[in-house]
Amino acid sequence: MAKEIYYKTIRQIRKLLDDREISSTELTKTVLNRSYRINKDINSVITHTEDLAIKSAEAADKRISEGNQHLMTGIPVMIKDNISTQGIETTAGSKILAGYKPPFDATVIKRLKNVDAVICGKTNLDEFAMGSSTENSAYGATRNPWDIDKVPGGSSGGSAAGVAAGQCIIALGSDTGGSIRQPSAFCGVSGMKPTYGLISRYGLIAFGSSLDQIGPVARSVEDCSIVLNTISSKDTNDATSMKRPFENFGENLGEHIKGVKIGIPKEYLVDGIQPSIKQAFEKSLQILESNGADLKEISLPLTDHSLSVYYIIAPSEASSNLARYDGVKYGISIQNARNSVESTFLTRGQGFGQEVKRRILLGTYALSAGYYDAYYSKAQKVRTLIRQEFSAAFETFDVLVTPTAPTTAFGLGTKIGDPYEMYLSDICTIPINIAGLPAISIPAGLDNKMPIGLQIIGPQMGDQIVLQVASNYEKSTNWNQKTPLI
Ligand code: GLN
Repeated sequence: MAKEIYYKTIRQIRKLLDDREISSTELTKTVLNRSYRINKDINSVITHTEDLAIKSAEAADKRISEGNQHLMTGIPVMIKDNISTQGIETTAGSKILAGYKPPFDATVIKRLKNVDAVICGKTNLDEFAMGSSTENSAYGATRNPWDIDKVPGGSSGGSAAGVAAGQCIIALGSDTGGSIRQPSAFCGVSGMKPTYGLISRYGLIAFGSSLDQIGPVARSVEDCSIVLNTISSKDTNDATSMKRPFENFGENLGEHIKGVKIGIPKEYLVDGIQPSIKQAFEKSLQILESNGADLKEISLPLTDHSLSVYYIIAPSEASSNLARYDGVKYGISIQNARNSVESTFLTRGQGFGQEVKRRILLGTYALSAGYYDAYYSKAQKVRTLIRQEFSAAFETFDVLVTPTAPTTAFGLGTKIGDPYEMYLSDICTIPINIAGLPAISIPAGLDNKMPIGLQIIGPQMGDQIVLQVASNYEKSTNWNQKTPLI
């Protein structure tokens, strides 16, 4: 039986749209119906943007009839709800932004609208993208479509679950320490964090500005490359954005990997790693090797410090970024106060959830006079050493390969009471953000019906080789074609 249309890739749907076998309007209605139905079970979407979607689909159909379509014209997409969409509520998963409708579009949204992609909804996330399970959302937890008693990962859990369940064809997420890759691994889809700076952060609600990066969640490696081609640009509104070094991220997708040098950093096979993850990883290495790659184990001893460095730098930046939520400019404002200071206290006290408050406290402490040198400044120094350690490795290797996460998706409620346990879930993804590198997670196995992810890491600006190796692996397996039963 042919796969349902909402489980197809951009490339497959492109053909159907261009051959007029289906219109974007029909496709969009089918996908929206699917999404409304599924959402009752998994709560992956905070807001469906049906009116905008139908209008965009009609514009897409017109464009297709005129013959000047782009690869993404008419394709249903969803957007993590920390990316600003003009006139559409953008909550960042927080009560404090309830009702906030940005007066402008993020640059990535403008780029999608330019090609008449069809925005169908805003996806659920951990509040301000702080979390690894999408349980820290003020709009209720998202569930994993492969097993609704499990988490989808986080913080882009809504985007990953939405793609996995066929609520959209691709989604955008954001990744500060693993938030695209870890949920992609948990939900059996492909998710990429590009090199820091390749995609404008303008309009992304800031968490840790030196770590945050927007990226795609998709059903294939090629779809990831198509999204990158569409949204990446130098943007004068984001001083850290840069001109992309290649026109087509997917240029090498069909190429072999003979002689490609792959490093296997042994520190990523952490103590306590789930045995099935280790087995799937070893199988993946065999596939890459039989496809002609040169594999060698290496050591990156500073990996052990990554989590500590991240949990100083990310909360420090967050404590500063979140200072703007004072009840004056955005979202909720508690008014029954005696003066403005009390109003700020009440608004922040009631508006922020527990994990966000924990991060603000951690960050404020690390930045405070007397502790700054001992914590923040030291973490920055170790960050430089971690970057150097990666740079040295990339003098020898083209890419590094690791598991994406040490476990498959865990049960809802099982880690939420223990922040440290939750933080450990990102142990394989956090070092990559610290060094600003590109990395993708692709489906690489199933354990007891739950997906397993493989992470491929490249040097700065090495996004093309990451995609090349990932697509070579994808073509040798069929893991990316598996879909949940939901
Ligand atoms: N789970 C990590 C955190 O809570 C990473 C989150 C992210 O990448 N946005 O900080």
